[in-house]
Amino acid sequence: MFSQFALHERLLKAVAELKFVEPTPVQAAAIPLALQGRDLRVTAQTGSGKTAAFVLPMLNRLVDLKQKRVEIRALVLLPTRELAQQTLKEVERFSQFTFIKAGLITGGEDFKEQAAMLRKVPDVLIGTPGRLLEQLNAGNLHLEHVQVIVLDEADRMLDMGFAEDVERLCNECPNREQTMLFSATTGGAGLRDMIGKVLKTPEHLMLNSVSQLAEGTRQQIITADHNQHKEQIVQWLLQNETYDKAIIFTNTRVMADRIYGHLVAKDYKAFVLHGDKDQKDRKLAIERLKQGGAKILVATDVAARGLDVDGLDLVINFDMPRSGDEYVHRIGRTGRAGNEGLAVSLICHGDWNLMSSIERYLKQSFERRVIKEVKGTYTGPKKVKASGKAAGVKKKKADKKGDKKVVAKRKPTAKPKPNAPLASADGLAPLKRRKPTPTAE
Ligand code: AMP
Repeated sequence: MFSQFALHERLLKAVAELKFVEPTPVQAAAIPLALQGRDLRVTAQTGSGKTAAFVLPMLNRLVDLKQKRVEIRALVLLPTRELAQQTLKEVERFSQFTFIKAGLITGGEDFKEQAAMLRKVPDVLIGTPGRLLEQLNAGNLHLEHVQVIVLDEADRMLDMGFAEDVERLCNECPNREQTMLFSATTGGAGLRDMIGKVLKTPEHLMLNSVSQLAEGTRQQIITADHNQHKEQIVQWLLQNETYDKAIIFTNTRVMADRIYGHLVAKDYKAFVLHGDKDQKDRKLAIERLKQGGAKILVATDVAARGLDVDGLDLVINFDMPRSGDEYVHRIGRTGRAGNEGLAVSLICHGDWNLMSSIERYLKQSFERRVIKEVKGTYTGPKKVKASGKAAGVKKKKADKKGDKKVVAKRKPTAKPKPNAPLASADGLAPLKRRKPTPTAE
């Protein structure tokens, strides 16, 4: 129960209003420590409820402040505009019974309007690092009174090249009392470096080992002969699977546009989201999908990062993601907040080695599925490498060497392995996944 936390009554009222009953594991682990003012490093996937895990303690710190809107007191950094917008919404929902005001600074929005908003001084500022720095450099942003900083999806911010910007923004907050860093993966040397620089003796909460990724999501592969064949399989899945909303991932903008074009030509209600789209299109795509006007989103990774859309229950990897971590992020779109989901990856000859290295990284075997109506000739290599490097780190390209070098037979399993229970670290007892709880949106 949320009432177990020492949260201000106005925040508990909002929690009740939003019909949050049971805290998720990440909330149960992080909220008490965050309320004590501890620096936290939390490894938790999107969809785990991590936003409330930092928003509630952050608001609790500000709720009793006598003087509102004289200084920015809390700063939340996120990698993408969409995530920043979603986080703003969460902050607004949780602060609805308080006088706390939040502001948003992201690229793609009017610079002067943002400067005007900053002159009114929000208590909480949420934004993406690039534009925040631009506002800082223009003299519009003053962060010296910030008490708490949250770096959400920190691993992704690093992937996107924001390391220096994030560090600079942290340095602009010399009086901060608390820093909380969230990432979906444990990250690499870059993340460790950032943790060393910005966190003070943090508590590390590990809420998602990759082995429990997307609990409630079935993970399948379907082999395909070429891209055209993949498109036929996509059509079949969209026509025959039961789903509320679907997302199709491609590795390139060109392919995203192509698939989108074919879907629209067949009268599907679809949207496409990638880096070439302007902010208006991106907002519209997300709104339509949320409201149910569109059922299908075709997207590249960056564009879809952190999307939280209720009822997204089918993920199709038209192209295999280039790393195990990216796979985890994509599949994190479905099976959120305890719902069921289906993830299907389409595998051509050139995708096979990458797919199997992702399996090794995740220590899972994806379910092999054959659809007789759209069956092709390629069924995977006769033999595959017995061992090799797992795909936890980003690869530039899918291994195109194909089947020639493969040496040992791999036995496919009919069903994915049952997922391990939620792990927690640093002396916390293993945490149970809560039952599906209706969300307020
Ligand atoms: P997040 O991982 O923060 O993006 O949250 C994923 C979704 O779960 C969001 O739609 C939240 O509103 C919802 N959610 C988070 N915590 C809870 C909870 N304790 N009970 C019900 N829904 C929740």
